[in-house]
Amino acid sequence: LRASLSVIQKETGFVNGLIVVLHDITEHEKIDRERREFVANVSHELRTPLTTMRSYLEALADGAWRDEEIAPRFIEVTQKETERMIRLVNDLLQLSKLDSKDYKLKKTPVNFISYFHKVIDRFELTKQENVSFIRDFPDEKIVIEIDQDKITQVLDNIISNALKYSPQGGKITFRVRKKEDHIEVSVSDEGVGIPKSDLSKIFERFYRVDKARSRKLGGTGLGLAIAKEVVIAHGGRIWAESQERKGTTIYFTLPTERVKEDE
Ligand code: ADP
Repeated sequence: LRASLSVIQKETGFVNGLIVVLHDITEHEKIDRERREFVANVSHELRTPLTTMRSYLEALADGAWRDEEIAPRFIEVTQKETERMIRLVNDLLQLSKLDSKDYKLKKTPVNFISYFHKVIDRFELTKQENVSFIRDFPDEKIVIEIDQDKITQVLDNIISNALKYSPQGGKITFRVRKKEDHIEVSVSDEGVGIPKSDLSKIFERFYRVDKARSRKLGGTGLGLAIAKEVVIAHGGRIWAESQERKGTTIYFTLPTERVKEDE
């Protein structure tokens, strides 16, 4: 609350009244502060690859381009940084679409189990051989209404994190559990884990437990924030459980009953 105070005073100096106005500014100020932080974060995230690229390009222009050993390496760095910026801008566009008021999901009925198998199969082809996948799904067919492209993005973000933070020879377990009015989907890894104090924050935009590591692994810090927006838009919840050095499980739910859409 913000209080503004006006004193009503006569010319003689006597005070004969006070006006107190109370404003509920907390919510408004919070949104404003978050917006400012977001813009600062975006600017910083874009400036980092840009300054790196500038120095490598300067070195190339200053003559490094003639060096057959150095030149390809410097060009590779600028390519990597360009890729990072493209990923970042794509994630930002995605978030801004999800933020916009007139945004609508394109839901269709999907057999979730066979759909989930297909998503995992795609990773099975590209993953390192020593990481193993385990699928623990119910036998029955589960048909739910989802925006398939959007949920694929959620799963892609969660699975690529599990792979990024998995150790050599790690196991990644995919589970689907049927509950009363929703399904619970989870992805568990045996990786570095997340400290308790960070668990709830990893779904915030640009929040990373280890900035340097995330950068090295090519992360944008937006993957889980996007996942959260999409899951909430579907009427589900998303959360994480983790033990440091033991592993992490990311859970999310999706309603099985048809949620009535706003007219
Ligand atoms: P990033 O692009 O950095 O991976 P995300 O939004 O996907 O961003 O994740 C936010 C942060 O949460 C990561 O930087 C990492 O610190 C942590 N995190 C996410 N998934 C895992 C996981 N499976 N194991 C350990 N840490 C994780």
